Amino acid sequence: MKNIPVVMIIFGGSGDLAHRKLYPALFNLYEQGLIRDNFAVIATARRPWTHEYLRGQIADAVHETHTEVNENDLADFTQHFYYQSHDVTNVGHYETLKELAQELDDRYSAQGNRIFYLAMAPRFFGTIATHLNDQHLTSSGFNRIVVEKPFGHELASAEKLNQQITASFAEDDIFRIDHYLGKEMVQNILPMRFTNPLIKNVWNNSEIKNIQVTLAERLGVEARGGYYDTSGALRDMVQNHIFQIVTLLAMPEPKDLNASSIHEAKQELLAGLIIPSEAEIAQHFVRGQYLGSDTTFGYLQEANVAEDSATETFVAGEMKFKNGPIANVPIYFRTGKELKEKKTRIDIVLKHRSNPYGQAHSNNITLIVDPNMEIYITINGKKISQTGIRRENLDYNFSKDELAEVPDGYERLLHDVFVNDSTNFTHWSELQAYWKFIDAIESAWQKADQAGQKPAQYLPYRMGPKEADQIFERPTEHWIYE
Ligand code: NAP
Repeated sequence: MKNIPVVMIIFGGSGDLAHRKLYPALFNLYEQGLIRDNFAVIATARRPWTHEYLRGQIADAVHETHTEVNENDLADFTQHFYYQSHDVTNVGHYETLKELAQELDDRYSAQGNRIFYLAMAPRFFGTIATHLNDQHLTSSGFNRIVVEKPFGHELASAEKLNQQITASFAEDDIFRIDHYLGKEMVQNILPMRFTNPLIKNVWNNSEIKNIQVTLAERLGVEARGGYYDTSGALRDMVQNHIFQIVTLLAMPEPKDLNASSIHEAKQELLAGLIIPSEAEIAQHFVRGQYLGSDTTFGYLQEANVAEDSATETFVAGEMKFKNGPIANVPIYFRTGKELKEKKTRIDIVLKHRSNPYGQAHSNNITLIVDPNMEIYITINGKKISQTGIRRENLDYNFSKDELAEVPDGYERLLHDVFVNDSTNFTHWSELQAYWKFIDAIESAWQKADQAGQKPAQYLPYRMGPKEADQIFERPTEHWIYE
């Protein structure tokens, strides 16, 4: 499908996400012809920019992310952008926005199609959704809304936000975005699982001992202390990215690749998500906070963080499902700030089988998602000039040229919004299941706070607190990635 007619309205059009991700991604989609003659974008925010200033910002954003740019195309592209100073809390401003959207719809023959992109602090999502509805911003064509993370602060606020959005938008028109679902290696999970008998035939609870998901960040909270202190690693990373990855790893085989079949398979899995008891949380979950060093602040010294904050900058824990191919297999996860290096990685640890050689290394399947992209399988072979078994890796990786072709997650996902493919977006029922799990952990931690317990402390640039090495179900289990 090419040249999709649409007027897109970006709330938060002067923000970091729009600049670094959305504008460069839109330019690439323009270059591919997906949007071309019949589209206009209205960027909104409070500051008093002009259309020309916005266009200059967009040209800068494209130059900053591309090594080669067709300047004629870029000049044409930026002419499709309009700036509207707009305070999302001011009801009157929606009238002006509606008029501009209609004017641009007529000028670009956009056929009454609208995409609303909420690229702002999450506390504004409900307000925007409410005013889109009461000020009748939706139009006569398709009306789609893209909502950034986090979607709610816990289940109750997520439900409220969902009600506010569903007042104007059907579930199929709500695109809850999680850019991890746009990543090449995350999109590789299902093809890897289902097209390789070698992998598919061991993807079950008789063969898999455990799965480990690590999302390590090198940076601290930086300027986001105020937001982060109300969120923490569990809400910021587990509720969305880690759950999305785990769902792809554990879901049953979908009957086909349609968005509805994929979501059906995910829902079937999530209906069996085990909510851990308080005793299980105490045993299998660890929260941590990073300490300072000679050159860096500890979390409690960061700007806009309460000095007695119990917010976790690290969490390790366990997920399990009652159903699906790996029912009851422990899926351990950990994520945190100021860890050893930036790395997103998945390790599938297979059970040992007895063999006539007596000993062997475990066969693990590892997917590296970030910063490089790779799949490798550890296998056993014969040592060349001695007896015994040696361990080798079978590698599946990408050439430099292939890596250069991989689109950014935002480009992929924006493409999907334009073509109405919701496969890689979070369905409401999935989000509900995720929040139920997160709420149970948060509630247990609140009780721990009241009992005077604190998050474990960890030195920066290691792999989190040592307590995270004790969360396993069996003494033979340990983190594969140290
Ligand atoms: P940001 O840089 O702080 O941008 C916030 C935007 O909101 C600015 O354009 C700001 O412009 C506007 N704004 C603030 N108050 C407003 C109001 N009352 N009315 C109208 N506009 C207002 O935030 P961001 O980093 O782009 O993040 C946006 C969303 O994307 C968040 O939900 C975040 O979690 C998500 N996200 C961001 C990234 C990223 O890389 N940045 C990655 C993943 C997800 P004015 O001050 O001019 O109003």
